[in-house]
Amino acid sequence: MQTGWLKRRLELERMMGVDALFKRPGPQAELARIEQEVKACRLCRLHQGRTQGVVARGDPRADLMFIGEAPGREEDAQGIPFVGPAGKLLDKMIAAMGLHPDQVYITNIVKSRPPNNREPRADEIEACFPYLERQIALVQPKIICTLGRPASNALLGTNRSMSDMRGRWHHWRGTAVLPTYHPAYLLRSPGQKAKAWEDLKMVIAALVEGPPEPEGLF
Ligand code: URA
Repeated sequence: MQTGWLKRRLELERMMGVDALFKRPGPQAELARIEQEVKACRLCRLHQGRTQGVVARGDPRADLMFIGEAPGREEDAQGIPFVGPAGKLLDKMIAAMGLHPDQVYITNIVKSRPPNNREPRADEIEACFPYLERQIALVQPKIICTLGRPASNALLGTNRSMSDMRGRWHHWRGTAVLPTYHPAYLLRSPGQKAKAWEDLKMVIAALVEGPPEPEGLF
């Protein structure tokens, strides 16, 4: 491997006192801070029944971010999102897209497990939302794929059915969002997998060709 130029560059930087040039701060430090804050978070009632807060897995510089609903039993036990049966299917969906799960960033709307896996309530989503806002700002994904109705509505601030939302591009603060079915739903309704695959193909095309622009006013 040609490393001569790199050594010379580092030497030059050291001489000039700018050795941080190659070490521009990535989002990791701030994401680690979010992780700590979530572990200690008591902003809503969900902290009472959880084992631990669950923040994210995957690449903090990914172009594609998946956002699910909330940790389930396995996720609560392991402290990692989407590691249970739905997570196994999500990993297969990501592999079918030609990606490795480590190449995407995976998180949830709500970071603590709701009792008996009920849907997160509006005040719980509201309390947790600033963590997600910070994650999105740090990761700066080109595309967000929301998983299921609660996650899609929570991000987009809507109250629509899945059939109304999926298969069409939306935008959140300038970032392209494609809602698709939650893998837990697909495990219960495998007949819908073909539609989810249509959605994922839209995501693949947008990753290759660039995400769609928000519709302008003019
Ligand atoms: N379902 C979700 O929405 N998120 C997880 O992390 C696991 C299951």
